[in-house]
Amino acid sequence: MLASGLDEGVLGKYRRIMASKKDVTVVPVVHGTNCGGCHMKLTAGSAISAKAGNMGATFENSGRLLFWPVN
Ligand SMILES: [Zn+2]
Repeated sequence: MLASGLDEGVLGKYRRIMASKKDVTVVPVVHGTNCGGCHMKLTAGSAISAKAGNMGATFENSGRLLFWPVN
């Protein structure tokens, strides 16, 4: 079942992404500013969202899910 602690908004976002992209990729933020998939510069909102640990953070340009790498 659904993990507690995840709000419906994040889950809904995942479902939409999964429905539209069968092979959605999760990539790290690189250099603190760029998408680890397509290497384009992230929007400020995407970078901040990923850094904040938001598991629903995405980069609209490539449709990838972002996570902030732990060093
Ligand atoms: Zn990308």
